[in-house]
Amino acid sequence: MTNKTSKSSSGLVADVLGEFLKSPPVGTPTEVIEAFDVFRRESAAPLPPHLFYELVEQAPVAVSITDPKANILYANHAFEKLTGYSADDVQGENESILSNKATPIELYRTLWHTITNKQSWSGTLVNRRKNGDSYLADLTISPVLDHAGNITNFLGMHRDVSEENRLQRQLVHQKTLIETVLDTAPVVVALMDDDGRVVLDNQEYKKLLGDLKTQEPAQLLLQALAEQADLPFEQMRAGQQDFRNLEVRLEIGRTGPRWFSCSGTWIEEPNIAATAYFAHQSVSPRNLLLLAHETTQQRRESERARIQHLSATLAEQQRVCGMREALAAATYQIQKPLNLVNAAVAMLQRTGGDNNPLLPVLEQIGDSARQAFEALNTALPEESQEPKEMVNVNALLQETLELSTEALLAGGIVVNWHPTIVLPNVVGRKKQLRGLFKNLIDNAIVALGESRSAQREITIKTQERNRALVVEIQDSGPGIDPDQITTVFEPLYSNWRNRRGHAGMGLAMAQAIANDHGGMVEIDPDVEFGCLVRVVIPVQGA
Ligand code: FAD
Repeated sequence: MTNKTSKSSSGLVADVLGEFLKSPPVGTPTEVIEAFDVFRRESAAPLPPHLFYELVEQAPVAVSITDPKANILYANHAFEKLTGYSADDVQGENESILSNKATPIELYRTLWHTITNKQSWSGTLVNRRKNGDSYLADLTISPVLDHAGNITNFLGMHRDVSEENRLQRQLVHQKTLIETVLDTAPVVVALMDDDGRVVLDNQEYKKLLGDLKTQEPAQLLLQALAEQADLPFEQMRAGQQDFRNLEVRLEIGRTGPRWFSCSGTWIEEPNIAATAYFAHQSVSPRNLLLLAHETTQQRRESERARIQHLSATLAEQQRVCGMREALAAATYQIQKPLNLVNAAVAMLQRTGGDNNPLLPVLEQIGDSARQAFEALNTALPEESQEPKEMVNVNALLQETLELSTEALLAGGIVVNWHPTIVLPNVVGRKKQLRGLFKNLIDNAIVALGESRSAQREITIKTQERNRALVVEIQDSGPGIDPDQITTVFEPLYSNWRNRRGHAGMGLAMAQAIANDHGGMVEIDPDVEFGCLVRVVIPVQGA
């Protein structure tokens, strides 16, 4: 525009903006009001029109003032720079000179409908520069009203947001790309914030969430890592220590346990606070990127092979164990009369019955019994002391059930398996504990065999209570008479109808193994039906 500082231009700008600022229309963005108002607030007295004009003229945003039909009366320097049109070029032209006809007509209709209703309108249009180039304009139009409330002018402010839009689109595209890659990856992925909330996940994660119903998979995996792999999370977070390929086991639904190989990487979130602009060291929270690769299939295959091997060796173990049981029972039975004979010999000797003809006979019986007792003791197969290790009782119980599959199927027995999803490991002797549970499951199978009821069920539950592992094995068999609850733990006690093959040592041995692990085996006296045996084993450190 020629005569930019002419009286008419500066007067127009000062008048229009003055009117606009008196009552900014509804919907005017506050930053627009503040941008113009700052010129007035610079000094206590109103700015002289030419100064006000200069400030608008030099404003970094393209400003234009039109008549009520959008014919341009004034355009500032930023407008000239952005559009490529000089102020003279556009003087008297309609603002539509900037339209590149790519903006939908509907948008213009809304724009005009809003501003002719005396409200401000903001939005994004596709504009065209004088040289034909297109750009995205972020535009705000505010009507300016006279004293009578009639629209006298429109005030337009716009800036080029093409680059912002390009970056934003690029960002959205990259995000979509990352999400697509994550979603197609056959791995569970979760990004957790400082408070343990999942802020990003993928399809595999969502599937797992569906399987777990309402529980958050990431939390369960972390809990399992802490309990089963002994991961000190807080320490690791502080030291930003990553972890790789740690396998954990979750009990999910009826399909049985599932295994996940987990890896974690701590990621520092960039501190985007304005105050951190010049600070290079970040004090921002750390996110954890958790990857969990399901290894259930491989695990099941190797478990199957292991079970086959186990059942082959178990037959041998059971033979040896049976022998031990029988010999232990025999020595126990010999011990009782031997004690009586010894007592009788001692009494005869004490009461001067040396000439009693019974004495040599009793002494001979005593000697032979002692010899038999010693022979039996030597014959007892040596029990090798098994080292202690970390044992997952859920896994052990499942393995024991698999070993009993044949007997369970033959007895038409339904097993209700209710494991706690994440069970802490215990430090124990694996073979012994397996033997403990095998004895109890075998007892339940025999009990159901002796029951006349059509209902043949064994329910097994595991849970953690007060830092102890509690395993409950309940059968729907005839149950145990409350008077017999302590007796059944005595060695050689058996009340089975068919006692063949049962030396009555099972519960005694189970109790001895539980005691060896600092725990106990008890029979619930208040059970409503059948027999409920409860095994309690403290977890490490309890
Ligand atoms: P037009 O035929 O001019 O308008 C399309 C539709 O808009 C019409 O069908 C009608 O519904 C409505 N319309 C147009 N004029 C009026 C009116 N006077 N009263 C009521 N309704 C009407 N457009 C841009 O493309 N880029 C800009 O940067 C831009 N800045 C503007 C700044 C201001 C201050 C104002 C007031 C308007 C601005 N416009 C801008 C809108 C511009 O005036 C045109 O309406 C628009 O460019 C469409 O022009 P057109 O020739 O394609 O269609």
